Amino acid sequence: MTKKLFGTTGVRKVYGSEFDLEMALNLGKAFGTTLESGTVLLARDARTTGLMVEDAFSAGLMSTGVSVVRAGVIPTPTLAYMTREGNYDAGVMVTASHNPPEYTGLKFWRGDTMGYTSEQEAKIAEAYDSGEFKTASWDGLGSEGNLETAAEQHISALLKVTDADLIESKGFKVIVDPGNGAGCVLTPYLVRELGCKVITLNGQLDGHFPGRKSEPEEATLGDLIRMVQQIGADLGIAHDGDSDRVVFVTEEGEVVRGDRTIALLAKEALKSSDKKIVVTTVDSSKVLDETVEKNGGKTIRTPVGDIQVAIKIKEENAVFGGEACGVFIFPEFQMAPEPFLAACRILELMAKSDRKFGDLISEVPIYPLLKTKLRCPNEKKEDVMGILAESLPEAMTDTVDVLTVDGLGVFLKEGWVLVRPSGTEPVIRITCEAPTQDRVKDILERTRAAVEDAIASG
Ligand code: MG
Repeated sequence: MTKKLFGTTGVRKVYGSEFDLEMALNLGKAFGTTLESGTVLLARDARTTGLMVEDAFSAGLMSTGVSVVRAGVIPTPTLAYMTREGNYDAGVMVTASHNPPEYTGLKFWRGDTMGYTSEQEAKIAEAYDSGEFKTASWDGLGSEGNLETAAEQHISALLKVTDADLIESKGFKVIVDPGNGAGCVLTPYLVRELGCKVITLNGQLDGHFPGRKSEPEEATLGDLIRMVQQIGADLGIAHDGDSDRVVFVTEEGEVVRGDRTIALLAKEALKSSDKKIVVTTVDSSKVLDETVEKNGGKTIRTPVGDIQVAIKIKEENAVFGGEACGVFIFPEFQMAPEPFLAACRILELMAKSDRKFGDLISEVPIYPLLKTKLRCPNEKKEDVMGILAESLPEAMTDTVDVLTVDGLGVFLKEGWVLVRPSGTEPVIRITCEAPTQDRVKDILERTRAAVEDAIASG
């Protein structure tokens, strides 16, 4: 099992069947061995396994001579932010993000707020697999301390870059749904500091996630949608379990797709900067590219994952970036996702323009999007993708561009399709988008046929 310790980002496993305390202890030893010395900032989300996994991991680190400062339950972006602010050598978050409650995991952050790249993760995995760990003697062990003000410090930094007085003057009513996750300790307080009337839903930390599933999407946000409508709130804000994602709900109860929100915020970012590049992942809507181009910018697409977006932002000196699932990265603040700054920017925009969020977002059109998945044995995936690289662009009548940064993306005169083998299940996923329903259905059917043919002959 050690072969695939790290997934797309960090370690994410089911506690009990795939992950146990010994692994947490050895991961701590392995990470300490790669660091050799220094101090690590360590925090967790609200999962039932969090404290125990953190204890074991911390013990492992200290046994190698590396010191630990523990920040308790805080959002992942707060951990990343404080890793830089406190000059720590690294930050580690015990979290399984939006996964179901039985999952646990660890995510690694550098002192400059960037997540560990897969190459850096591979070094930890190598140390873990070798089983040869640095051991400090009784008088060379790491020490342990506490940081109790991480959320407060993050909030005051956010307030420094936000026009709180302007927002306060509008007296907005905002409903915050952290989904019983780590966002409970930050977002309601931040929004209160902005002078809004805050109502919190699922606002108690609870690793069972009793309120709703941890992934914030239309299907899981029914209570928030109804509450926004009934109370007549100006905005709904929802997070995932470790609060690195945010999804916004309009005053009418519409859950806004993340790529539309990226488009809205990118437009503003382009206005106030001479940087022109906006970075997003392969699965974002064409609407984003069109909005960015209209405002004098250009989009660059990366494989899915917030680290991929952050790496590209740095490489291209981009102004802004994000992922359709609700990730927003503001490089001038930090390289980790900033759901909180995204909320500040939206409230600011509402206040500045004196317009409702629903009205502002209506300027970013919605193109019909269809998704499906087809079963494909894992061992066949590579061959199938090889066949599709040839056959799929041909199966479309108006192919303009083919993108292979992550899966196979075929861009058409009208619309696009993305085919990606799942990293965790024996399926191939198809996502397509076009300006009309008829067109998107046609793209989906052509793609489905091409993938089925490839699976049959692969
Ligand atoms: Mg997350």
